Amino acid sequence: MDLHRVARKIESWFARHQRPLPWRETYDPYRVWVSEVMLQQTRMEVVVPYFEKFVKRFPTLRALAAASEEDVMAAWSGLGYYRRARMLHAAARAANGVVPRTVEKLTTLPGVGRYTAGAIASIAYNQRAPIVDGNVARVLARIFGSEDDAWGRAQQLVDACKTPRDLNQGLMEIGALICTPRKPACLVCPLRTDCATRSDALPVAKPKKETRALRIALYLITDRKGRVLMRRESGPLMNAMYHLPHGDTSLLSGKPLTVVTLDLLGTFKHTVTTRRIEFALYTATARVRASREWAWVDTGGMSSVAHPSYVAKALRIWASRPPSLPAS
Ligand code: SF4
Repeated sequence: MDLHRVARKIESWFARHQRPLPWRETYDPYRVWVSEVMLQQTRMEVVVPYFEKFVKRFPTLRALAAASEEDVMAAWSGLGYYRRARMLHAAARAANGVVPRTVEKLTTLPGVGRYTAGAIASIAYNQRAPIVDGNVARVLARIFGSEDDAWGRAQQLVDACKTPRDLNQGLMEIGALICTPRKPACLVCPLRTDCATRSDALPVAKPKKETRALRIALYLITDRKGRVLMRRESGPLMNAMYHLPHGDTSLLSGKPLTVVTLDLLGTFKHTVTTRRIEFALYTATARVRASREWAWVDTGGMSSVAHPSYVAKALRIWASRPPSLPAS
C-alpha cells in the first residue's frame, strides 16, 4: 500500500467534506481539548450545544481551573459520564493555564490518556501524533485488511501525511460518515481503490455483553413553596450532583428514602452501559431531617444545578403533570 497516497486522499477528502464545528474555527487548544473530552462516549450532534454552552461559561483554561466543581458539573449536566468533567477540571488545574503541546506532557495530566493526548497534539498543534478511537480502528482494519496494530498503522499514516490535523480528523470523519460499522458506503469512499476489504467484514463482531433490566422507583416530593426534594451526592463518583430520592436499588448511591407514595406520574426508560432501567416516578411525602445531604431545589433554576439526565427526564414528566399535594 502506498501510504503517502492514502494519506493524501484522506487529507484532501477532509479539506472538502469536513463538517463545520465550533472547535474547528480556530483550533484553540483549550477548545479542542474540551471537545475531545465531550466526544468520548457522546455523539457529535449531542455535543455541539453542550460545547457552546460550556466554553461560553468557561472561555479559557484558566477560567475552568478557577471554577468550582459545582459550577463545572452544572455546565456538564445532561452530558453523562461525569467522571470526564471531573478529570477535565482536575487536569485544567494541573496544567497551570497552558495546554501542553506534546503527547508525553499531555499524558502526565489527570485523565488524559493516549487517545486524548494524541488528539490535542495533532488537532490543536498539528503534531505527528496518531490517534485511534473506535471509528479510526474500524477504518484502519478495513483498509489494511487486518485488525492488528492499529496504533502502529495510525502512526505510519500520520508520518506519511502533510497535515496531521487533517489526516487524523479525516480518518475519524470517514469512520463516522462513510465507513460506518454496518453497510459502509464504499462507492463514495475516497479510499475505495486502496482498501483491502471494501466491506464490513472487519472488524470481526465481538459477542455483545448481556444487558440487565431493572426497575427503580423515584420520588417527587415537594414543599409548600413548590420546591423539589433532592439528594446531593458526596461520594467519589458523583460529587456535587443532585438526584431525586429513590426506592430500593443498589445501582444508585445514597440510602433508599422511606416515603408514602401517592400517585404514579409515569415511567421512562434509561440505559446505563449494560443496564436497562425503567424508572417509575411517584409523587410522595416523606419526613427528612435537615442535613447537607438533602436540599429543597427550585426547579426553575435547574440549569445551575448539576443533575444527571435521568433526573431531567423525571422533572420533564413532572412539569407536564404538576402534582398538587405538598410534603407533610
Ligand atoms: S472502501 Fe469501504 S470498507 Fe474500505 S475504507 Fe472505504 S468505506 Fe470503509
